[in-house]
Amino acid sequence: MPMSTEVIIGLEIHAQVNTKTKFFCDCDNDSFGKEPNCNTCPICMGFPGTLPVPNAEAIDKSVLTALALQCTINPSCKFDRKNYFYPDLPFGFQISQFDEPLSEHGTVEIPLPDGTMKKIGITRLHMENDAGKLMHADSYSLCDYNRAGTPLMEIVTEPDFRSPEEAEIFARNLQAILQTVESSDADMEKGMMRFDASISVREIGSNKLNPRAEIKNLNSFKALKEALTYEMERQIALFEEGTVLENDITVGWRENLGKTVLLRNKESASDYRYFPEPDIPPLTFTEGYIQEMREQMPELPLEKVERYGSKFNLSNDITLMIAYDHKLSGLFDYAVRNGISPELAANTITSVLTGILKDRKISHQDIAFSQGEFVELLQMIENNSVSKTAAKDVLMDMVIKGGKPGDIVKSKGLEQLSDTSEIESFCKEAIENNPQAVVSYNNGKDRALGALVGYVMGKTKGKANPKMVNDIILKLIKNG
Ligand code: ZN
Ligand code: MN
Repeated sequence: MPMSTEVIIGLEIHAQVNTKTKFFCDCDNDSFGKEPNCNTCPICMGFPGTLPVPNAEAIDKSVLTALALQCTINPSCKFDRKNYFYPDLPFGFQISQFDEPLSEHGTVEIPLPDGTMKKIGITRLHMENDAGKLMHADSYSLCDYNRAGTPLMEIVTEPDFRSPEEAEIFARNLQAILQTVESSDADMEKGMMRFDASISVREIGSNKLNPRAEIKNLNSFKALKEALTYEMERQIALFEEGTVLENDITVGWRENLGKTVLLRNKESASDYRYFPEPDIPPLTFTEGYIQEMREQMPELPLEKVERYGSKFNLSNDITLMIAYDHKLSGLFDYAVRNGISPELAANTITSVLTGILKDRKISHQDIAFSQGEFVELLQMIENNSVSKTAAKDVLMDMVIKGGKPGDIVKSKGLEQLSDTSEIESFCKEAIENNPQAVVSYNNGKDRALGALVGYVMGKTKGKANPKMVNDIILKLIKNG
């Protein structure tokens, strides 16, 4: 990007609230994998004569999330009808919040790659219900309303991002925050968190906001970053020819084409003909209630970064990797609380475990083992009953199939051999059968020791404790 051009990016995030029931009825809020349209009722289908009743759990979780984003909770808020017609919307409108949202004016601090922190403004967090899902065939479309009525939090940021990378870092941090306060599972693979990203370009130093492109419905961090990068480059090329977008547009990301396509010229807010939802009275919140929610706040990712920094001697990258991942920090904290060395815990998590998850394309939510089983494996490494190499194998099984590490080690015959006399007999055999290696070592060729250690490792099928083998061979050679 030439020095004189800057990119302006803002995000809108929809995250499903992980309540037991839907927003306005008693239908199960978990429709994942269910037969289409089995999870509906007259209320979420918008039949005449039914009345929506807001779910207290959805409101509590939205308030907690808003507080985690340092938003101000408005003492009162209301619901509005956002009118648009689309077959996936049973009411013919969405119950949303327009001019009196649940909360506003928040901030999230994100760590940038250069080690500095950047404050991202949160314009608002409001509540609304989700629509159903359309499935398009050749000449017709099918509609599944199971998801219709799921509570959503819509989180809108200020246009504070200056690169696709910053937007991606924020998105990952937001996912960690939602998972930490347990308001949303935020599993992108399951569509529980979706992004719309707005992007425009301008001359650096200008305050002008040029017309922007809104990229709709980005379903992964990768799509978010790639779509923004494509659109940034497209707009910069236009800008350098002396033009900007003529008006706001809405585009879609076509991952297979690697490009955005124009969907429509953007609707303005008035196209939705918002008006107050007559069937739901405004909500009011007392100071006492807000205080109570504040007291429920768990330790947030940024606070974890600070705690890890002050207590452990971990690199900055590793600290961020763990602190900004709810699942990984849970494993790390549990392990350290149970006496595992922070270095071993952090290393196993960030190099071994995340490697397996990435290779096997397994989402963190789908890890099959418990925190206790993870600690058991680390204890076996610490007391030398399993080698670090073998521990990788064991962890792979734990991730995929679950099961107790002790049982996996036994069934795979991976117990580390740490019995001194047994190892010593293998070492003696190694020395007897490799006199040349001993001579070379005694002549100063340190590398010759490797042949002897290798002999023992081979004989024990890799199960001997390598450090013990090393020490014992050295002792035997010295004693002649
Ligand atoms: Zn229902
Ligand atoms: Mn929305």
